[in-house]
Amino acid sequence: MQRTAKKITRILSVLVASISIVSCASKDEVSSEPAEAATGMSVNSGYSNSSVRGPVPQNPNVRLPSDISGSSSVTITHGSRSQKYIALTFDDGPHPVNTPRLLDILRRRNVKATFYVIGNLVDRYPHIVKRIVDEGHEIGNHTWTHPNLKNLGDSNVRSELDRTRDAIVKACGVQPLTMRPPYGSLSSAQRNWIYRDYGYPTIMWDVDPLDWKKPGSGVVASRLINGTRNGSILLVHDLHAGSVSAMPQTVDTLLRKGYQFVTVSQLIAAQGTVAVR
Ligand SMILES: [Zn+2]
Repeated sequence: MQRTAKKITRILSVLVASISIVSCASKDEVSSEPAEAATGMSVNSGYSNSSVRGPVPQNPNVRLPSDISGSSSVTITHGSRSQKYIALTFDDGPHPVNTPRLLDILRRRNVKATFYVIGNLVDRYPHIVKRIVDEGHEIGNHTWTHPNLKNLGDSNVRSELDRTRDAIVKACGVQPLTMRPPYGSLSSAQRNWIYRDYGYPTIMWDVDPLDWKKPGSGVVASRLINGTRNGSILLVHDLHAGSVSAMPQTVDTLLRKGYQFVTVSQLIAAQGTVAVR
């Protein structure tokens, strides 16, 4: 009896080992994608020009409305699971070097993303915010000083949101439609009154590569790729160079898997369309 049990355990461990080999193999396949974006360490990097490299997959022109007035969701963590739309979101910029580099990467692939910008940085780098909007991306409100809003009274929360909104409008003439709380920290009472007074749904995420811990761009890319499902909202921080360097591999792999990148508002609006059907 005991021997049979041992045999079963042995068979099971072989099975488990072979399953993990399969999942490692698929990860390796992913990380063999060519990495773009110079790290600044390569020899003669001054001669490289990403615009003359080979073709990359293109995101289709997704004709979806961005009118979110049909949605009454106060908190949104992901979009519809029945369509291959996903939203790439970038927090804590604009950054004077990494955000423009990211914009080049996205433009080359026709990918539209959503940027949750910090108000005082918008004030410092308004030209980058203008470029973000001019290139078809969406801007969201990520507060003025990036505090934990749960610790603030309502008037201070209002001031964080107002100053940021005003800086965004001054920089690019566009109103943010959504907000994301720093650290994802916002009470349900706060979410409700912010939605009522500003019309901002609180945008969370369902794919978090923990890129702020700087695990390396290959790890960031595989976490994003492996975590993505239909309707996913991907959380990335464009102030980290390594996160931006993870984007060519991430975007190209997800495009090859048939996903289409849309902005957060488009993702919400698309979900509304599905609900009506
Ligand atoms: Zn943040």
